[in-house]
Amino acid sequence: MHNDQDLKPETLAVHAGRNTGAESGAVAPPIHLSTTFVRGADGRLAHGHNYARESNPTRTALETCLAALEGGRSAAAFASGSAAALAVFNAVEPDSGIVCSADVYHGIARQLDDIVSRWGKQVTFVDASDLDAVRAAVRADTRLLWIETPSNPLLKIADIAALADIARGAGARLACDNTFATPILQRPLALGADLVMHSTTKYIGGHSDVLGGAVVSREDDEFFARIRNFQGTGGAAPAPFDCWLLQRSIATLPYRIRAQSAGAFAIARHLATRPEVERVLYPGLEDHPGHALAARQMSAFGGVVSVCVRGGAAEALRVTAGVRLFTRATSLGGVESLIEHRASAEGPQTRAPANLLRLSIGLEHTDDLVADLDRALDAAGLSRESRPHDSSDTG
Ligand code: PLP
Repeated sequence: MHNDQDLKPETLAVHAGRNTGAESGAVAPPIHLSTTFVRGADGRLAHGHNYARESNPTRTALETCLAALEGGRSAAAFASGSAAALAVFNAVEPDSGIVCSADVYHGIARQLDDIVSRWGKQVTFVDASDLDAVRAAVRADTRLLWIETPSNPLLKIADIAALADIARGAGARLACDNTFATPILQRPLALGADLVMHSTTKYIGGHSDVLGGAVVSREDDEFFARIRNFQGTGGAAPAPFDCWLLQRSIATLPYRIRAQSAGAFAIARHLATRPEVERVLYPGLEDHPGHALAARQMSAFGGVVSVCVRGGAAEALRVTAGVRLFTRATSLGGVESLIEHRASAEGPQTRAPANLLRLSIGLEHTDDLVADLDRALDAAGLSRESRPHDSSDTG
């Protein structure tokens, strides 16, 4: 292949790591299911693979592709995004501090509270869109700053380049969960981050049929070796078929995410005109507090829209009851549009506003999706005027 640096993302998405069946002439890459690999008479491993938990050709192909797309030196694929995040937290030196953005996927916050804090690591949550607050939260023992931008579910935007400077100044690494943006819309490593994490379950898989995660590292250093060790020795590796499915999906990722972003933008604009809607959270809208920053560090604003309707949880749930094309389900990034009442999905510890609905825009025609949301809003019979009890409070 050409030098990866010369190739555009669309080309990398099709070719990077692609491992065609040299022996058979197959154009589509094979799936290597073998758990073990043959040694030569000299005892050497002729092809570099030994045992599938440590590495296998299908996983290596996926990792090569992800590293090329994010512009990193190395990538490690995991059985889920959660396992990928835990591998990073595990790699942080014992008895040190982790500063984490307050609006992150609730499962990541739960990992930090329930698992990582038991490893002797001090965890502090901070609003990552407030640089002064981050500077104040970073301490001498901080070794990792973890952000998610756009964030889940409030779609807040964090300044990756500025946060990378803060982390570097403190002797810490910056890790960015790039699940919502994908490497097609945002490349955190180029902006100064040290690590990128993905739930590949979302846009990278893109079809709501595979669970996976990945960490991409700017350097192939000792910190990344610990992440790799969590994958191989820790046994958090994905199955070959899942790696194959992910690589198959990546070929269309640039076109999917751009179409989903365009649809999300149109739907966000439309929802902002509906009187039953208290506010639309979408970084493409000019009144979004992170709009200018998002326009600088992203090439489009992503396929997720959060919307707070007038009223509380009951009113929000009434809207979800009325959809026909949107599917009422959690998760995001698939070809089919999803709607969920986020506080119900997160459970009793949720920090999501009670009236917040999260929409993941798929690849249906935008006109049909707009009509579906209009029908659901009409049928829900919500107030069309702001009232004193309208609230975005958690609960
Ligand atoms: N990061 C983000 C932004 C997510 O939305 C999710 C899952 O919803 C995760 C991480 C966790 O990924 P997984 O469900 O693949 O473990």
